[in-house]
Amino acid sequence: MSDTQSVRFFSGESIPLEMHKVRVVQKLYLPPVEERLEAIRRAGFNTFLLNTREVYLDMLTDSGTNAMSDAQMGAMMQADDAYAGSQSFERMQQAIEEVFGKRFVLPVHQGRAAENIICRTYLKPGSIIPMNYHFTTTLAHIQANGGRIAELLTDGALNIKSSNPFKGNMDIAKLRALIEAEGVANVPLIRMEASTNLIGGQPFSLANLREVSKLAREYRIPLVLDASLIGENAYFIKQREPEFRNSSVADILLQMCAEADIVYFSSRKVSSSRGGAICTNRTDVFDAMKSLVPLYEGFLTYGGMSVREIEAMAVGLRETTDESVIGQSPSFIAYLVSRLEAHGIPVVTPAGGLGCHVDAMGFLPQVPQKEYPAGALAAAFYLISGVRGMERGTVSSIRDENGNDVLSDVELLRLAFPRRVFTLSQTKYIEDRMHWLHTRRDLVGGLRFVEEPPVLRFFMGRMEATSDWPERLMKAFREDFGDSL
Ligand SMILES: *Cc1c(COP(=O)(O)O)cnc(C)c1O
Repeated sequence: MSDTQSVRFFSGESIPLEMHKVRVVQKLYLPPVEERLEAIRRAGFNTFLLNTREVYLDMLTDSGTNAMSDAQMGAMMQADDAYAGSQSFERMQQAIEEVFGKRFVLPVHQGRAAENIICRTYLKPGSIIPMNYHFTTTLAHIQANGGRIAELLTDGALNIKSSNPFKGNMDIAKLRALIEAEGVANVPLIRMEASTNLIGGQPFSLANLREVSKLAREYRIPLVLDASLIGENAYFIKQREPEFRNSSVADILLQMCAEADIVYFSSRKVSSSRGGAICTNRTDVFDAMKSLVPLYEGFLTYGGMSVREIEAMAVGLRETTDESVIGQSPSFIAYLVSRLEAHGIPVVTPAGGLGCHVDAMGFLPQVPQKEYPAGALAAAFYLISGVRGMERGTVSSIRDENGNDVLSDVELLRLAFPRRVFTLSQTKYIEDRMHWLHTRRDLVGGLRFVEEPPVLRFFMGRMEATSDWPERLMKAFREDFGDSL
């Protein structure tokens, strides 16, 4: 198995080389800038509310948008339709045992459904869940069950520019102090998230996971691993943790999962279009949760998924162990991050999984945080490129009991790289337009809410520009690019 980054070029250039070819394609449309202005206004300056008809490159998320392999498509045709006892489920269970080393599997329709079941089972009002960092849906389910979170990243992990290879590590001393202060009885779970999503797809080291696990065992607190982005985390462990340089990704995955009592994941990220599972080797854990699956998801052998999705997941899980599959997205992200850095554009370093993360506070210092710089940057970048990214900042945050924004630790524009979807020339287009926007960044202003849902507001909320900056930015684009799209 070859790594996408291991092919050296005679020219000395560092270019990520695809270890796949394209056999099914989807035609794209790049709307002119005037249409894009209309579209983003109609979408309330929220890229979630754009239609893909209005989008050239959809870099909103890697969720459910990775390219499927021929093997996955083939397996979907051989699915076994059955309400109960489907062979497709058996094949998925085998794949999970092979890749994650867990025997008992509770299927769910997507990652947050796993969070619902775990939180309903283990939390009570007043519970506190220590974690490296939260994910939006995780936090929402913990709060819905009366719990709180404690984020225990190591100091400096939120610095945008860094050479820390494992920003997703948990601070062990902080973990011990928290458990002692809150009391073991109030800490029903410890949660580690692989390729920590909201801080830029940043991994933790296996050494750190082992330390967390050791402490969890000492206090007899179950350790939960959110494995939605575990493949990339394993890839980074191989790349960055000397002890595992010669280990296979398959072996690293098994070693990671062995440390956790509960492994759950969203299959939207791992493999196919939908699905997820909660996995464990502990019968007590399995028994505690299994009755909730038929209640919220579906019978224990499909959990809200179609058998075709289950087959695609099984194959996708096995493909997660193939470095040329799992390394494709990180190598393109590393390429774009290095190109943007060369233009002096503030980006999260080291490059992580998931996507390229542009630091909106560094990019738009003139936009105060309460005017949502990451949201403004996402809207501005769509306007001048047709590329749809996602706001990961205060719009994705919440309000406190007094109705004030809880300002996000970081304001990021995430440009997600779904696996094996975009080409190098498209990546160069992104670089080019981001470079231009950076030279005209003084034109970009802030946003304010006009419609704000009380929960997970970033999905459906609508905003408006605080001035006529979108019109002025469009005019500058026309002046510099003529009649180009
Ligand atoms: C996407 C994601 C989830 C939620 O999964 P869904 O399938 O979108 O419900 C949970 N945790 C992490 C780390 C994720 O990336």
